[in-house]
Amino acid sequence: MKNKALLMLGLLLVVAIFAIVACKKAIDSAPKIQTIALTNDHAKKVYNYIIGMGFPAHQIVDQPDAFIVEGDIRFPKDMVLPKALEEQYYTGSLVSTSWVTNIRLSVDASMTSMNSEITSAIGQWNGITSCAINWTIVTSGTYDVLITDTNLGNGVCGQGTFPSAGKAGNLIYINKAYIAGNTFAQRARTICHEMGHNVSFRHTNWFSRGEPTATDVPGVPGTDANSLMNGGQCGTGATSLSAKDIQAAQALYP
Ligand SMILES: [Zn+2]
Repeated sequence: MKNKALLMLGLLLVVAIFAIVACKKAIDSAPKIQTIALTNDHAKKVYNYIIGMGFPAHQIVDQPDAFIVEGDIRFPKDMVLPKALEEQYYTGSLVSTSWVTNIRLSVDASMTSMNSEITSAIGQWNGITSCAINWTIVTSGTYDVLITDTNLGNGVCGQGTFPSAGKAGNLIYINKAYIAGNTFAQRARTICHEMGHNVSFRHTNWFSRGEPTATDVPGVPGTDANSLMNGGQCGTGATSLSAKDIQAAQALYP
């Protein structure tokens, strides 16, 4: 009888130990919430600025020189923040009239093999009537935006940079090897799409992609299956700015 009781107790102990181990395993395999430890004060402000725009912390990817949101929009850690930030509100991030009329694009040597695609993409933005957006390629001297080849891994065609201090975002990364197998029109689309981010366009399909609420362009609300600014469509998306893309560009930059 005593032996039987000891045996039962032993069994209970084994079960209890199993339960604890199993429980610990479940905790270990639960997804870890990304915590970004920032030692740089300015980067902290940029991070808070992004949070203030409505991007949840778990969607912000920390890279050495920038934070990435929505997969392909860069916020450089040294970006100039709007003065309004000190008053705790966000006033918008458009490129100012004096800058948007002459966005000087420098093509890094790594991207000159796609000069034709770049020229095609520029043609789409510059071809919008009644719109101030005007890109020019500069081969020397001062430039506003650099387009360069960078390995972004699988699934990301390119990355644009959000405007800051009234100037277009200063960098466009193109995952050249990754998009090399796409058609000419799709390669040009990638470049045209990232250029859109550099003048403050968000993804038209932000809602279906589960991205934070974007501000409607006045008079041009809603979704648009034909938008070149739809995200997550590398190699398959619209290759021409849609009627609504054009209306939005005219509304933002008359
Ligand atoms: Zn995008």
